[in-house]
Amino acid sequence: MPHLTTHEELRDRILTLAGIVESPTPFVSCYLNLQSGKASALKTMQRRANLLRRVLNGKDLDDFEESVGCIKTYINKYLLPETKGLAFFARSNFEKEFYMPLQFAVPLPDNLRIYPTPNIFNLIKLKDTYERYLVMVATKEWVRIIEVNLGATSVQAWSENPALRERVGQEWSETQYQLYHHNREESFLGDIIQILQELLDYGDHNHLIIAGDPEITACIRKVLPESLISKLMDTIPTSLRDSETDIIEATLSILVEQEEQESRSVVERLIHHIQTQGLAVIGAKDCLDRLQCGEVDTLIILQSYNPDPVWLCSSCNKTIETAPEFNICPNCNSTTVSAIDLREELVRQAGQKDCPVEVVEHSEALIELGGVGCLLRFRTDL
Ligand SMILES: [Zn+2]
Repeated sequence: MPHLTTHEELRDRILTLAGIVESPTPFVSCYLNLQSGKASALKTMQRRANLLRRVLNGKDLDDFEESVGCIKTYINKYLLPETKGLAFFARSNFEKEFYMPLQFAVPLPDNLRIYPTPNIFNLIKLKDTYERYLVMVATKEWVRIIEVNLGATSVQAWSENPALRERVGQEWSETQYQLYHHNREESFLGDIIQILQELLDYGDHNHLIIAGDPEITACIRKVLPESLISKLMDTIPTSLRDSETDIIEATLSILVEQEEQESRSVVERLIHHIQTQGLAVIGAKDCLDRLQCGEVDTLIILQSYNPDPVWLCSSCNKTIETAPEFNICPNCNSTTVSAIDLREELVRQAGQKDCPVEVVEHSEALIELGGVGCLLRFRTDL
């Protein structure tokens, strides 16, 4: 059944896609931004497909047409109204048929490519950008705790404030009410924080955002235990007029901003390790070698990283910088050499080992280092 992809599922799908070995039939990797609707996305795909048709012929063209047909059918039949981004990986081959659609509540950039293996860079970036987190929305009448998982929301807990709904003057004198109200209010907040703590622990969440009525959120902030303050990303004022969608949008921008800050600090760590001859390498070749040895703690890559193609021997896994004659590997003499997209190969290697990847939107320092580097867990002499 079509559904919105969660962060956990995305991790699994990346492992699957990164593990696919190339076969004679190339993969069609299709990414579509659906914020302007289905019709506009289909038009964008059509334009890009027309261009690809001009460089394909024979069986490759037939396979491509079949894949594009499948993607179109899927979009027309199974697209959910809340989907903002679609990724579709297709290989239409009689024996090695493979179709994987993924719908997301967050947008993806438009992209349609043909390559021997699935192009997963955009998925890797998504996984890096959108960590799961909890949002606590608090008004004077109720408190709601929502989990945001790759932009998709699910309410985890909901609680009405009984003290506030109590009527004054029937059974209670005003003083009694205030006393009652005060006590109930405190235990109400205490209960809510208890629930919040349990949800954070249970869901293994590292981030929390509090939104709502400024008076109430200030009260909550005051009684928040240290363990929760360390996870609190921000507190945002909202009013009853704000829709839940608007509130979630606002929290998503906070998350993206936080992720950019994290990127900058990871780049700083990389530079520090390079300066002190610590556990780090830079450059695609060294990064690929270390990834293959399983030594990498984090792969750090510029979003705009776009190096010249290199050649890779699939028998001995060595990269070759200039086109080898007759596609023969100078290292092991086998004929299993093919041109590769370095950016894809780097994230594919990382994806196979579930190694964290930090995609850096912009960094002059990282540009100067060539656009790619790795923090290492340990180092062996190669
Ligand atoms: Zn070789």
